[in-house]
Amino acid sequence: MGIAENIEHVKKELKEGVRLVAVSKTKPNSEILEAYGAGQRIFGENKVQELVSKYEQLPKDIEWHFIGHLQTNKVKYLAPFVSLVHGIDSLKLLQTINKEALKNKRIIPCLLQFHIAEEETKFGLDLKEAEELLASQAFVGLTSIEICGVMGMATYTDDEAQIRKEFRSLKKIFLLLKNTYFKDKPTFTEISMGMSGDYQLAMEEGSTLVRVGSKIFGEREYH
Ligand SMILES: *Cc1c(COP(=O)(O)O)cnc(C)c1O
Repeated sequence: MGIAENIEHVKKELKEGVRLVAVSKTKPNSEILEAYGAGQRIFGENKVQELVSKYEQLPKDIEWHFIGHLQTNKVKYLAPFVSLVHGIDSLKLLQTINKEALKNKRIIPCLLQFHIAEEETKFGLDLKEAEELLASQAFVGLTSIEICGVMGMATYTDDEAQIRKEFRSLKKIFLLLKNTYFKDKPTFTEISMGMSGDYQLAMEEGSTLVRVGSKIFGEREYH
């Protein structure tokens, strides 16, 4: 199957209220344009340089999401155009994004990344760290960022019950934060969870943004 058919296929499966982030990392512009031709407008990348070069070369109505681990010294390259930063895992990163957003006279939407997997290697906050961040004086002053929700990655496993449990824990964190820190913020709505192998489960557990790469573009080759 081609990329356009894959997009159609995944879109048909989306539950109401769920948006598709087509994860195009390592894939060439020609393939992104195939997805674009099938109507896809949201793309996710995890390398700053690659994202900037694709942004410059591809149609300007694409919404670019940054889904990787963002280093503070690279925020300035994304700040003029990025639509959503999925992986916020520190106050320092938020402060840097705020500063660069201010320079660009815009508000940058962000998601707090939570460590929900059993695996040690995945980035992200735990609930206590997030609450410390959200309750801090420093956070209150950040008026050029907007926290729109949460993001997480489940353990890479065939164990459905395990994956479900982890997605459920992210949904629970989302609700707790919404009721405690974002009561008056109607824009705190997003739960970014689900990849090629587990987006159906993620949608059943309340995902609003699924990040699907290989199911659309095929397996990635790293050189
Ligand atoms: C690569 C990546 C994806 C997409 O993974 P697939 O399994 O190819 O769908 C989703 N989220 C993040 C954070 C990624 O780095």
